[in-house]
Amino acid sequence: IEVFNFLNTFGFDEVAASGDYDEYAKNRDRDISHILPFNFIDDTYIFSPKEILKSDGSPYLVFTPFYNSAKNNFKALHLREYMPAKMKLFPFRSNFDFEEFPYFSKLSKEILDPKLVLDSFDLDRYQSLKEIMSIRGTSRLGAHLRFGTIGIRELLRYLAKQKKSGLLTEPFFRQLVFRDFYAYLLYHFPYLSSQNFRHPFKGIPNEFLHSIFIKAKTGVPIVDAGIKELLETGFMHNRVRMICASFYTKHLLLPWQWGASFFAKYLLDFDEASNALSWQWSAGTGVDPQPYFRIFNPYAQSAKFDKDGIYIKQFLPNLKNIEAKILHDEEALFAQNLEDYPKPIVVHKESRERALAYFKGAIRKI
Ligand SMILES: Cc1cc2nc3c(=O)[nH]c(=O)nc-3n(C[C@H](O)[C@H](O)[C@H](O)COP(=O)(O)OP(=O)(O)OC[C@H]3O[C@@H](n4cnc5c(N)ncnc54)[C@H](O)[C@@H]3O)c2cc1C
Repeated sequence: IEVFNFLNTFGFDEVAASGDYDEYAKNRDRDISHILPFNFIDDTYIFSPKEILKSDGSPYLVFTPFYNSAKNNFKALHLREYMPAKMKLFPFRSNFDFEEFPYFSKLSKEILDPKLVLDSFDLDRYQSLKEIMSIRGTSRLGAHLRFGTIGIRELLRYLAKQKKSGLLTEPFFRQLVFRDFYAYLLYHFPYLSSQNFRHPFKGIPNEFLHSIFIKAKTGVPIVDAGIKELLETGFMHNRVRMICASFYTKHLLLPWQWGASFFAKYLLDFDEASNALSWQWSAGTGVDPQPYFRIFNPYAQSAKFDKDGIYIKQFLPNLKNIEAKILHDEEALFAQNLEDYPKPIVVHKESRERALAYFKGAIRKI
């Protein structure tokens, strides 16, 4: 609002902007429109929220049919180009507290410049590399999509060009449609940013367990490494986000909303729709969720996706001399007396049973 009041005093007569659909964004755009006429440009998501509907006019609730319909509805129009005028940016002093986010001072040009990010991304091998957390197998474009430093249509035009030159683009396109799907669901069901879609699971509030989790002191290496990655870089690999969110909502039985707020604070690519709905997916409460009875074993996950412990050791350097197989072995971790690292805060089998009993009990009470 300060920015737009400032622009108003400089004689600007219109705002042309693309936006998203969460409550904050809707209120922000309404408030701005009271200062300057607001011209909404559709450049945040591929589709507008009413473009992809079922034959009865209702929104899709499952991703695969949404995706199939999205592909059928994709046209040249979705690649349209907006030409911003050549601009000179005004200096603007912000009150943002950078000290709380030490990673800002470490962001390199390779991360800040969307063109460099795109140039260094191996699009053709995305499908085979995206699950490997110890390398940069994904695009890292989330933050640029969030801040609009790359527009979705610009990215789609880039994909169309790469496809023409024979590169495999569909796996990456599918993820962009996933992002659209979450925004679409939030548009049609605004309450999803804070309330469950299904099941009455509320989680059990526990400040102590939450503080252990956010300090990366759970004693479960893959979970703690993920939290360290988030705090130190503002990013967390997607697979690790899933492992952490599952651990938080199932092993620790904490309310998903608390975990989502913590991610919202530190993720550079924070997006209200993708964040809240992914947390609901992990908690088993979402629109098209991971079933509540499917509980990730964090040790099996790290053994599969970080076999040599490279990712874990990168973010938990105090474990660098520990054999990788120990990092994926709960019993061995309980047996160790590591100077700088706690024993696991929970026993996997016990917390799994506790979670199942809690979920089943909550369902029975309805
Ligand atoms: C608990 C949890 C919280 C999450 N919070 C966010 C969030 O706040 N903001 C956010 O953009 N994504 C979120 N995601 C989804 C996903 O983890 C990130 O989009 C992805 O890790 C970003 O890295 P990237 O840009 O390298 O993605 P890439 O793999 O290169 O994908 C390209 C783009 O596609 C979109 N995308 C990819 N995967 C997903 C997905 N599973 N769901 C929705 N969109 C996807 C993103 O816009 C991403 O930038 C979350 C996932 C989980 C499990």
